[in-house]
Amino acid sequence: RPTDMVQFLRRIVDNFEVEAFDHNIALTLSVSDDMNATIHVDPDRMTQVFVNLLGNALRYTPAGGTVHVEISRESQALVVALSDTGPGIEADHLPFVFDRFYRGEEDRSRDTGGTGLGLAIAKEFVEAHNGTIRVASVKGVGTTFVVRLPLSV
Ligand code: ATP
Ligand code: MG
Repeated sequence: RPTDMVQFLRRIVDNFEVEAFDHNIALTLSVSDDMNATIHVDPDRMTQVFVNLLGNALRYTPAGGTVHVEISRESQALVVALSDTGPGIEADHLPFVFDRFYRGEEDRSRDTGGTGLGLAIAKEFVEAHNGTIRVASVKGVGTTFVVRLPLSV
């Protein structure tokens, strides 16, 4: 379905505002230029992608931190970067974060934990849209996930 991704992402970010406020996390969204980013997506799956990524960012970032969503475009792709000032992920673990059931060491033992499927699902859905998802992280500094979705088709 043709979807204005800026409006689409704005709505998703809005839905996390209360959670961010409750956790004392600054949640911001920025859009480069006034771009027309209407692309064909499966809205339910695309919602799941960003709910999983934003949910992680807000869950793993401690109070006082920030979560920033930045929408921009490259010649062939819409780019959504989600950066947080959370605990970061050790370089050794980074290759595995998209694996099913992978959970960070400290997160495995949490009593209120997830299943470790969120990122695997996000990756599957992004790739089903012919997009890519990447992660960059520095332990103790924060994490950035970058989703690229083709603008054509
Ligand atoms: P689920 O999403 O199924 O509820 P989960 O959050 O543990 O559980 P994923 O979303 O797949 O599973 O994430 C896998 C692991 O990657 C997490 O357990 C956590 O250790 C790490 N991780 C994911 N996002 C972040 C982030 N923004 N900052 C730090 N660590 C992260
Ligand atoms: Mg998760």
